[in-house]
Amino acid sequence: TAKANGGNQTAVYDVSYSTELEHRFEIERELRAAIDSGDLRLYLQAQMSTTGSLLGAEALIRWQHPERGLISPAEFIGIAEQTDLIADIGDWVISQALIELSKLPEPLTLAINISPRHFRKYGFVEQVERHLAHSGADASRLILEVTENLFVDNTADIKDKMQALQKRGVAFSIDDFGTGYSSLAYLRKLPLQELKIDKAFVQSIDDPSQRAIIDSIIAIATNLGFRTVAEGVETKAQADYLAGKDKAMVLQGYLFAKPQPTAEFHQRFVNNLN
Ligand code: C2E
Ligand code: MG
Ligand code: MG
Ligand code: MG
Repeated sequence: TAKANGGNQTAVYDVSYSTELEHRFEIERELRAAIDSGDLRLYLQAQMSTTGSLLGAEALIRWQHPERGLISPAEFIGIAEQTDLIADIGDWVISQALIELSKLPEPLTLAINISPRHFRKYGFVEQVERHLAHSGADASRLILEVTENLFVDNTADIKDKMQALQKRGVAFSIDDFGTGYSSLAYLRKLPLQELKIDKAFVQSIDDPSQRAIIDSIIAIATNLGFRTVAEGVETKAQADYLAGKDKAMVLQGYLFAKPQPTAEFHQRFVNNLN
């Protein structure tokens, strides 16, 4: 940034600003092409019960760049979200995820991440229905992860769409719960089934004040009849603490598995189910 670079601030600012813009446009352009050239991948991360059985997976996108290798969503989802590109990526994610879900044996579930901008777009519900019909996947084993930021405005339209999908059996989860900007009032107004505790809370579980937040999230979820999922579980101590608080909690994290290509996920988890 201009300040960090010092010197002639205006000039430096202009240069870095235009470089940043160019970088963004470059990524946008390449990303658009990546959808068509088949360079996007869906990885699956296992979600476990507190007794150690597989309940399902979360689908997490990766970009297999021909020169730069595997690129994490942190590097491109934010950029895609600035334009309607996120809706094209989201469309691809839904279609691929539902094909994956149709290959997962019952009663395993699949959770996917939906950006607010994509969810708000006209025709979102019909798009999900189209992919459900096309894949033959079981709607009642699909979980849509949305963030609190979806509920900041125009909640009437959001609620209508959620209810339409809920009627089809689709479940909704609040991802990164407690890190966004919305009030808690929406929790009892919207058709929700699950709260996901952000990994920032899980990973600082040794800190009593962070633990207080986790305990409070579990209390809210329990009182409203929602399931809780903890992401970013890396240690046995974290898993034990969470399981001790809520036996029905779903655990997700490197302690069990990293996000992995679908074939590896099947080999490790699904082919061994009986
Ligand atoms: P998220 O949905 O909150 O996903 C959880 C992130 O935590 C994932 O990062 C996952 O790989 C990571 N994680 C899981 N367990 C552990 C652990 O034990 N330790 C650590 N250090 N990390 C863990 P990832 O895959 O890089 O995704 C980052 C974010 O990108 C996601 O956060 C989500 O917001 C977004 N994202 C990923 N895939 C999609 C997608 O298909 N569509 C949209 N719209 N966003 C996506
Ligand atoms: Mg998520
Ligand atoms: Mg999350
Ligand atoms: Mg997160």
